[in-house]
Amino acid sequence: MSREREVHQPGVLGLAAAERLARRPWPARPIRPDIEVSFEFFPPSTEAGGQSLGECVRELAAFAPSFASVTYGAGGSTQLKTLATLAVLRESTELGLAGHLTCVAKSAGEVQQVVDAYLSGGVRRIVALRGDAPEGGPNGGVAPDGYATAAELVRGIRSRPDGDAFDISVAGYPETHPKAQSADADIESLKEKVDAGADRILTQYFFDNDDFRRFFERCRAAGINIPIIPGIMPVTNFARLQRFSARCGATIPSWMEELLGPLDDDPAVQRLVAATVAAEQCRDLLEFGIRQFHFYTMNKPELTAATCRILGVRPAPVALDVREDVG
Ligand code: FAD
Repeated sequence: MSREREVHQPGVLGLAAAERLARRPWPARPIRPDIEVSFEFFPPSTEAGGQSLGECVRELAAFAPSFASVTYGAGGSTQLKTLATLAVLRESTELGLAGHLTCVAKSAGEVQQVVDAYLSGGVRRIVALRGDAPEGGPNGGVAPDGYATAAELVRGIRSRPDGDAFDISVAGYPETHPKAQSADADIESLKEKVDAGADRILTQYFFDNDDFRRFFERCRAAGINIPIIPGIMPVTNFARLQRFSARCGATIPSWMEELLGPLDDDPAVQRLVAATVAAEQCRDLLEFGIRQFHFYTMNKPELTAATCRILGVRPAPVALDVREDVG
């Protein structure tokens, strides 16, 4: 039976197949021209890691992201590397760059010094975060004269004489932050960040789009009207994803475990399956009206590049001289 006949005669299909087709993961309308993507990278800690990041940036820069962000270690291990990575990317690419910044365990003065360093390095976009302090420290890891929450950090940046010059993103949690008192309290805390002057919300990654849709509606109902950009995690290694998700509170649906779990030893096949999963997720979000996507690239370009192409974002040739030793 042809696919066309299946679509037009759903009565002859099993219910599960009909429901799946009804979700229309593949283009139901022409590809839209108005999709925006952004990419997250992490600072490499080895020479080989620097080379991988260089190759990754070289491939993904061609998709003309609205910005590329570099993560920042709340524990202190990667902070200088973040600045160094941003400096190399600034030198060697035309990308709009964003530096992540955490405030936990630091005095307000120390945090502001990093803001100064970003500014003098030409980085005006900041992803403002609380970060996670090591468990068991005094005062929940907040320094006596530090910012206790990301909302305080956003206020701290906006209250600088040059505070309006910054473009500030903050984090949102479709499945609720694991340490939040309740889902409502989490939305209230997000609203506080927005009222403090955030420009957009980048979400934690998730795999069940219903979680995102519910979160989106609750944000809008709470008067949060800035862009809410879903964080998309193309799965490059399932075992690592499981470990990481347990820490950050992201749920891995059982169907994903069935699909990807047995494939860690077969990375080529896993990549193909993971690309399909990411593409279906983004297509479904497109149907919900989402036009901006933030990719957790894990410094690997293939799955993000494939998903961008499926979204209709085409690479354009760019003049780039990304150094071999990024970071
Ligand atoms: P906030 O906005 O201050 O809090 C968010 C919610 O968590 C609130 O509901 C708050 O009440 C609750 N909460 C947080 N901590 C506690 C606590 N200790 N006790 C009780 N409730 C608490 N981390 C990094 O270290 N470096 C990064 O570069 C980085 N980038 C990120 C990028 C994105 C897009 C996202 C979604 C997360 C990122 N994180 C990063 C992780 C982030 O630092 C943690 O999720 C952190 O726990 C909360 O940060 P926040 O800015 O959301 O905090």
